[in-house]
Order: sequence, then C-alpha cells, then structure tokens
Amino acid sequence: MKLSGIPINSGIAIGRVMRYLPDCGEKGEKARDAAICAEEELDRYRRAAEEVRQELKQLVRQASEEGQAHSDIFYAHVAMLEDKMLNAEIADCITKEHMRASNAVCRVFNRFEAMLRHTGEPLIQERAADLSDIRLRLLQRFSGQPRHDLSKLPGPVVVVAKDLLPSDTATLDRKNVLAIVTEGGSLTSHSAIIACSYGIPAVLGVSGAVSKLRDGETVVVDGVSGCVHTQVAGEEMKRFCLLRDQMLREKERAMGVRNAQPITKDGRRIGVKLNMEALTQDVLDARSCVDGVGLFRTEFLYMDRPEPPSEEEQFQVYRRVAEAFGGKAVTLRTLDLGGDKQAGCLNLPHEENPFLGSRALRLCLSRPELFRTQLRAALRASVYGNLQLMLPMVSSVEDIRAARVVLEQAKTQLRERGQPFQAHIPVGIMVEIPSIALVADLAAREVDFASIGTNDLCQYLMAADRKNPAVATYYRTLHPAMLRLISLVTEAFHRLGKQVSVCGEMGGNPVTALALIGLGVDSLSVGVSALPGIKKMIPSISAHEAKNQMDRLQKQCLTKDIERALQELLDSAL
Ligand code: PEP
Ligand code: MG
Repeated sequence: MKLSGIPINSGIAIGRVMRYLPDCGEKGEKARDAAICAEEELDRYRRAAEEVRQELKQLVRQASEEGQAHSDIFYAHVAMLEDKMLNAEIADCITKEHMRASNAVCRVFNRFEAMLRHTGEPLIQERAADLSDIRLRLLQRFSGQPRHDLSKLPGPVVVVAKDLLPSDTATLDRKNVLAIVTEGGSLTSHSAIIACSYGIPAVLGVSGAVSKLRDGETVVVDGVSGCVHTQVAGEEMKRFCLLRDQMLREKERAMGVRNAQPITKDGRRIGVKLNMEALTQDVLDARSCVDGVGLFRTEFLYMDRPEPPSEEEQFQVYRRVAEAFGGKAVTLRTLDLGGDKQAGCLNLPHEENPFLGSRALRLCLSRPELFRTQLRAALRASVYGNLQLMLPMVSSVEDIRAARVVLEQAKTQLRERGQPFQAHIPVGIMVEIPSIALVADLAAREVDFASIGTNDLCQYLMAADRKNPAVATYYRTLHPAMLRLISLVTEAFHRLGKQVSVCGEMGGNPVTALALIGLGVDSLSVGVSALPGIKKMIPSISAHEAKNQMDRLQKQCLTKDIERALQELLDSAL
C-alpha cells in the first residue's frame, strides 16, 4: 500500500509505526451550572492560566538554551494566553453565564479556533493548532491528568498521528523519532516548521494514516516524494535502503565541505556569511562554518499575522539571533515589505507597480512610528551581540540621511527610558537600486558598509521582473552592465576603506560568485543550502586570476560569452 501526503523534509526513514493517540482529557462545552461559585471558578481559571504560563515560559527558556528555533512558538503561546479579549470572554462566561472554568475555556477557545479556521488564509488557519495546544494544557490542569507526550519513546519509531500539536513536536524524543506522518498539517504549520528544523523526514496531510497504518508494522517514509510505503520487501526494500544510505552520505559530505576555510589558492580570505529569515535549526547548525549573518530578513516577522509584532516581541527575536551568533556580526536588515512581500497586518494600499512603489525603506519613512519601533527593538538587542543595521532599497543620499534621523529619534527615546543600546551601531546600505550604485562614492561617505542586493539590482537595471519567467532571458546577472556597476560600487567603498558584501542569489551560485570575487567583493552572504558549493569553490580558485578574467570580461559585448568563460574557468579549477 502507498499513502501520499505533503513532503516536509527530504530523507528516507525505514522503521516501525507507533501511533500516537493522546487522550487529551478534553471536556465538551456545557451550558450554565447554577450550583457553581463564580468566584471560585474564576480563581481556578486564573491559577491554571498562571501555571500554564509558567510552564510555557520554562519551555521558551529550555528551547533558547538549547539554541532551538521553536522557542518563538512557545513565546507566541504565552502571548496568546495573555490575550485580553480571550481572558475577558472566559471571565464573562464564568461570571455572567455561570459556567465552570473548564467549560468556559472550551467555549471561548472553540470560538477563537473556529474564527481562525474560517479566515480562508492557510497561514492564519494553522494558528488554530496553537490555540488548541494551549486549550489542552489548560484542560489538563483542571482534570489533574498527567500529560501524554512524545518526550520518552520506547525505541526508534515512525510516529503516526492525526495531528501533532506544536508542543508535541517541540518536546519530541528526537533520537528515537525516525520520521513523522500525520493526517493533518501543511507546510506552514508549526509542526512542519519544527520537524523541518530537526531535519526529521516528515510527510503531512496523509489522509487516513491513523486507521490505515498498524502499530509495529514496518513502513518506508519517503520525505522526497511525500509517500509512505507499507509491506515493502525484497528488491524494493533493498532499493529504499540504498537510497536512504546514499542520502545520509551526501548529507555528511556536504557537512564536511561546509567547514572548509574560505581562502583562495593565492591566499585571499573571502568572508562567507548567512542569509536567514528565522533562527531555524539549519541556521544554528551552520553558525560555526560562517563569519556571521550577512542578511537577516526581518520582514518575515511581520507576515501572516493580524497585528504587527510589538517592540518587545521584536526585541526578544533580535536578541536571540544576536546571542546565538556570539561575537560574529549579525546584519539586521530593516523592514523590506511591499513589492512581492505583503503583510496583511499593515493594510498596505494597492499599488499598480508595487516593485516601484512604497517598498522597504520608503514605506518605513512614510510610517516613522513603525520604523522607530523596529529600530528601538534592534538597538536594545544590540547590547547582546554584534548587531549592525542595514537599510534596504536606498535610492539616494537623502534616503540615508532621513533614515538616520529616525534612528537618532529611536536612540533618544531609549535614552529617556534609560534602556541600554550600542550608541555606535554600524549602519550600512543595500545597493540594489541603480541610482545609488552610480553615486556609490557619495553614499560610501555616509555609511559603514554596503551589501549589494543583486536580486533587485538586476531587475531594476535590466528592467526585467525578477519573478516573471517571460523575461527571464533579460534577467542576466552576468550582463556587462551588472559587472561594471558592481565593480564601481566595490571600488568606491574600498577607496574609503569600507567593506562590500553581496547578499543576493548571485553570491550563492559558484559561477557568479567566482565573478564577484574577481570584481573585488569582500564577502558573500548565502542561504544555508548554498554553503557547500561556495565553500568548495573558494579554495579551488585564484583571486588574482579571477580579477584578470573579470577585467577582461567587463569589456565583452555578449553576456553569453561571459557566462561561458566563467563556467570554463570554474570547471578547470574544480
Ligand atoms: C536582493 O535584492 O538581492 C536581496 C538580497 O534582497 P531580497 O531578495 O530580500 O529583495
Ligand atoms: Mg532586495
């Protein structure tokens, strides 16, 4: 039998099924009960809520100490539990409708969960699972029953469940979970996020998994194709075993290459940093192989939520990232919303050409309080590590100066509050609009560093939408105009002794990264998956030879000739 679902993590696992069917002690929602004493029930609720709050805070601490990305999830659970509207409704059910505390919790949480499920927004719908997680914790407090979970498993198993709550996945006995199969869930569920960060093969959304699979039977979970195979034997089983071992070996090899020193054959040290959106397990595991974070895309914190994150929430997140990287620099890019990155919580108006509209820094300058809130949070976090700020979508020196005014206001506010921050936090710009690239000599006087955002620089320079396949042939990062512009920026910043990094995708592809090294950039900031390729390329090439090639290639007419020459150079080096 073959069951299909959504693949979450690549990798193949072979093992015995253990179905997880927790008895959550959930009670139905009952109507009024004249016999209750409202004061006592209210008190019971408050005590239970406080205990759950402390339990969740302990989970946040534990996850942060272990460097786990999912501490954010429990942090969000604390915020949900403290929600004023939710608490007021529960209190009303108890005092006005004479409901027991447990029934009031069921009534109100069910209503809130249903509201989220009916939004039609998959990402918001997923948050209903977080509410049911908190509801179960509260109900278990009332019933006094011990919580069943997956923190101690009898041996290596494939966990099969209707659904896993975020806390089930977060407290998993990781050394014994070979794979996860659930009936519910999707790519954006917190269970998926956590499974992903653990690197456990997982297939979610497998209809009927709990009734179709039996405890103890051996299954093959294929996290590549999203299939669960049963009754596999003989040649077929041999094939799966081979595939599993091969994938494990590839993973180990890639891990080995990641540790290589990024020094070219002729002794030039190239900085290698990470691009990140959140502190996932992948990012945490890669920390020791990189020089820091070259691009922390903070806008993801604002997406898929009804309200923008508060200063406190942002501070906690930025602080955790800064602490996780110790003394290594973390480049926090201020909000880059707008364009293709929309955030419902900001109610951004419709624009005919959003990529040419009120995006990123432009949006922040038009909403100074939104910007100041983020800057205050980042400044406060700056005392916990080595943070630097980076402004996206800068088009002129005026933009830089206007941003600096808001930054000074944020600093003044913190001084008034008596909160500490790094007064001389470095400030850099993204060079991703041709206008600022062309006046890089002027911009370099105003900031501490530059990072070239080649993804946008190419689309704005070539007038080719970075997401439109119809114009993909016009979107060529090795066009001589791109090469000349990058060279101009690098030289202008170097003249003032300031560093230039590249955080666009061009830095993550070995062929184009070779061109960037030849053009003189100091560091490359890349996604985790691009690390092995880049770390393999750097020690194989000569920076001097790359420079000579690039001096020559910038004068070529045809992009295809440049692409071919660079590919040949790389092939001969590797
Ligand atoms: C870029 O434009 O190259 C960049 C790194 O920013 P983003 O892809 O987030 O727009
Ligand atoms: Mg960009």
